[in-house]
Amino acid sequence: MDLGIRGKKGIVCAASKGLGRGCAEALAAAGVDLVIAARGAEALEATAEDLRKAGVTITPVQCDITTPEGLADVLAAAGAQVDILVTNAGGPPPGLWSDWAREDFLKAIDANMLTPIALMQAVLPGMMARGWGRVVNITSASVKAPIGVLGLSNTSRAGLTGFVAGTARQVAGKGVTINNLLPGIHATDRAVALDQGVVRAQNISYEEAQAQRMASIPAGRYGSPAEFGAACAFLCSTHAGFIVGQNILLDGGATNLSL
Ligand code: NAP
Repeated sequence: MDLGIRGKKGIVCAASKGLGRGCAEALAAAGVDLVIAARGAEALEATAEDLRKAGVTITPVQCDITTPEGLADVLAAAGAQVDILVTNAGGPPPGLWSDWAREDFLKAIDANMLTPIALMQAVLPGMMARGWGRVVNITSASVKAPIGVLGLSNTSRAGLTGFVAGTARQVAGKGVTINNLLPGIHATDRAVALDQGVVRAQNISYEEAQAQRMASIPAGRYGSPAEFGAACAFLCSTHAGFIVGQNILLDGGATNLSL
C-alpha cells in the first residue's frame, strides 16, 4: 500500500534502537525525510546510515530528548516544516510504590509526559497552518491496564494520555491527527530489562522469566519493532486521517478489554 507520505518531513524521537527505530524504518521506507534522536552516538549513526538506504534524508541529532537543550536541538534540526512527529523516550525503571521520591516522579513526568507535550506544542501550529499533520506518541499498554511494578510509567503516561484526549479533538478540524500507540511486550532492550527484573524478583532464570511472560500473551510471542513501526507508519499515512485521539494497543491480545 502506498502510504501517500513520500516527501513529508518527520521527527522520530529515541530512534536508534527498539520501537523508535522500528517507526523510523517504516517511515523512511514510505519516503519520509527524518530527524532522528538518541543519546548514544554510535547506534544513532549506524541507524541513520541504514535508514538512508531507503533514499531519504536522515538527520541524526545526538541528545537527551528529555532535556530542554535536547528538545531545542531536535526542533532546530527539523526546521520550520514538520509534517510527522513520533514522540518516544526510554521508559522509567520498575519498582515498588514505596521506592520513589518526588525527584523520581519529576524525571518520569519530564520524559514520558512533558517532553512529548512540549514537542506537540512546538509543531502543532505549523501542521494546522499547512492543513496536514500526524502525531504518534509511543506510550504503553500500562495506560489501559496499569502494571504494578511500573508505577512511574503508569503515572506519567496517564498525564500524557489525558493531554492527547483533549488536544487531538481540538486540532482534528485542521487536518492534524494525534494518536497514541500502546506497546505490550516487544522484543527490544526494554523487554530484556523488564525480564531481568523478573529474574531478580523471583530468583528464576532468564529463560523461565521469558517463558512465563510469553504464556501471558495470547499471540504466544513478543511483538517486533518492525510490526510496531508498520502500525505507526499507517497512522502517519494519508489513509488514517479519520483516526483521531485513539489509544491503540499492540500487545498480542495480552490486555483483555471488552470495550
Ligand atoms: P529500547 O529498546 O530501550 O530503545 C530505546 C531507544 O530510545 C534507544 O534508541 C535509546 O537510545 C533511545 N532513548 C532512550 N532514552 C532517550 C532519551 N532520553 N533521549 C533520546 N533517546 C533516548 O526501548 P523500547 O522497547 O523501544 O521502548 C520505547 C518506549 O516504549 C519506552 O518508553 C518503553 O517504556 C515503552 N514500552 C516498551 C515496551 C516493550 O516491550 N519494548 C512495552 C511497553 C512500553 P540511547 O539509549 O542511546 O539514548
